[in-house]
Amino acid sequence: MAKFNRYLITAALPYANGPVHIGHLAGCYIPADIYVRYLRAKKADVKFIGGTDEHGVPITIKAMKENVTPQDIVDKYHKIIYDSFTDMGISFDIFSRTTKQVHHETAADFFKTMYDKGLFEERESEQFFDETANVFLADRYIVGTCPKCGNPNAYGDQCERCGSSLSPDELIEPRSTLSNAVPVKKKTKHWYMPLQNYEPFLKEWLLEGHKEWKNNVYGQCKSWIDGGLQSRAMTRDSSWGIQVPLPDAEGKVLYVWFDAPIGYISATKELTANWADYWCKDDTKLVHFIGKDNIVFHCVIFPAMLKGHGGYVLPENVPANEFLNIEGEKVSTSRNWAVWVHDYVKDFPDQQDTLRYVLTSIAPETKDSDFTWKDFQQRNNSELADIFSNFVNRTMVLMHKLCGGKVPPFHADLKDEKDDALFADLKASIQKIEDSLENFRFREALAEVINISRSGNKYLQDREPWNLVKEMAKDPSLAAGYQKRIDNCLHMCLQLTANLAILANPFLPFTAKKICHMLKVVDRMLEWENAGSLKLVNVGYPLREPEYLFGKIEDAKIEEQIEKLKAGLVKPVVAPVETKVKEMKPEIQFDDFAKIDLRVGTILEAEKVPKADKLLKLLVDIGTEKRTVVSGIAEHFAPEEVVGKQVTLVANLAPRKMRGIESQGMILMAENAAGKLVFVNPDAAVDAGSEVK
Ligand SMILES: [Zn+2]
Repeated sequence: MAKFNRYLITAALPYANGPVHIGHLAGCYIPADIYVRYLRAKKADVKFIGGTDEHGVPITIKAMKENVTPQDIVDKYHKIIYDSFTDMGISFDIFSRTTKQVHHETAADFFKTMYDKGLFEERESEQFFDETANVFLADRYIVGTCPKCGNPNAYGDQCERCGSSLSPDELIEPRSTLSNAVPVKKKTKHWYMPLQNYEPFLKEWLLEGHKEWKNNVYGQCKSWIDGGLQSRAMTRDSSWGIQVPLPDAEGKVLYVWFDAPIGYISATKELTANWADYWCKDDTKLVHFIGKDNIVFHCVIFPAMLKGHGGYVLPENVPANEFLNIEGEKVSTSRNWAVWVHDYVKDFPDQQDTLRYVLTSIAPETKDSDFTWKDFQQRNNSELADIFSNFVNRTMVLMHKLCGGKVPPFHADLKDEKDDALFADLKASIQKIEDSLENFRFREALAEVINISRSGNKYLQDREPWNLVKEMAKDPSLAAGYQKRIDNCLHMCLQLTANLAILANPFLPFTAKKICHMLKVVDRMLEWENAGSLKLVNVGYPLREPEYLFGKIEDAKIEEQIEKLKAGLVKPVVAPVETKVKEMKPEIQFDDFAKIDLRVGTILEAEKVPKADKLLKLLVDIGTEKRTVVSGIAEHFAPEEVVGKQVTLVANLAPRKMRGIESQGMILMAENAAGKLVFVNPDAAVDAGSEVK
């Protein structure tokens, strides 16, 4: 800690073409907010920077499709995103936008400085161009007929029906998704950053210098750098973005991944006149919170830009998270398989901390994790309600009932080993929480907070103040001594409650405030240095009525959410195949058909036939024997895909030699007009050798 005098914490700039979902929160915004709230509680000099990324092709496309301007799109989503974060208590010091003037100037200057230092290569290349819409087209924006399966709506980079990866050149009758025009190839000039020149720097600074980074982050960077870096275009052809600040750059803008991270610098400029202290002084600790899809941009490309430009600090850590799945499936915004933050806030008003809690408890810190509504309910009910909330509530209720609503005194003469143990546990937990937070292990830190309330519950259970009261009623001579024991118990529990507020505050800020309100203490009590003190609430001080921090969530509410998620799912649109049915062959008699012996077989082995693109050599079990069959399906199936499949075999076809291999039978396939092949097989498993009639 001592090495750094100020902190600059950034969270990835969400792209302003849609709302944010809980995967975004779990991926970087909640961890960043926890870290920042912790630093602020430690009275560190910290700035928390965020904003929306508002340039790039997808925004222009969306605008074109909705017949509005790109500015309309980003205005709309900036507001939705900003509101979602604010509602969830993500406490940015500034939440800016890359369309702001200060950012355009900062990013253009950054580019110009690098250009003047000779850090770009100028290159010409040919790219697809839509002459009607007057834009260059990324591969995704070109569609046509798939040469492999005949899907008329295959994309220029991939056919979603058969899964083949394609290039726009391969598409039959390619057209632009924007105007339906036939794309033409056009020459264009761009400025490339030769990343290979930064290899020695990246190896020394990152691979040697930051071995402490999370394994998932370090590993991805290492494989990128070891795989060899190449020049990457830092400009694009577009009308929407930051103009390339060069005289011969009409219609050229900065690549969105060049401009977006500079957004952190621009936003800091907008926030404070002292921005350079944060960005240019070595005793600043810069930490980028991001999701794993942004690792290479934040750990390789942006640091190379900062290094090339010069004068800026480099990130000290980039604790990127993996992805959060929903109910066992990957989040998909296009299929609407997501839990949107603005929906959650509407459906669970005042339950932000429940979501913050669950998303931290299951945070994908080291690998992908899964959010399910049942688990959400379970964690709320059995951890937040039954343990955390239960302890605070019992403490408050008992204090009102047994101590007249005032903080009872602590009678030192009755102090015993249970009090000492509770205090020692608290101290140990604080140490663990700090250690986990400093190392970005937020799940672990939060679990320790719950542990403190768990030991509080146990302490209360061991002391049984409710039984002491009963005893006192039976035998008044015990009253004075027992009241002292009750006082001590609730005094300790109240001090522990105040400590819980401090320690939970980075994770559950709304709850920490509620506790402060009940205890009638000012927010300043939440400063981290107060953690571990047993003098947080003053003896004799009257406290407010207890309020429930977390109630149970009912099954019906959870069912509703699961239904909502499923109902919102957009079914993939599969374009109908034009069916051209082949003409029928001449009629035959039953006897002709009966001559054919059809059997169900199971494919045991499969391998490619050397020098024959179309042929697979199969070993098929037909019950009584194993047959070698050569089949013309190699272009449709990989050998490993067909092993284990049941197939229909013409078993009495005269053997035939193909490429020197004797084929003992023929496998039946169905073929559509586009030439796609599928197996004809029983719809349930049957014994190998079963007759097909
Ligand atoms: Zn296809």
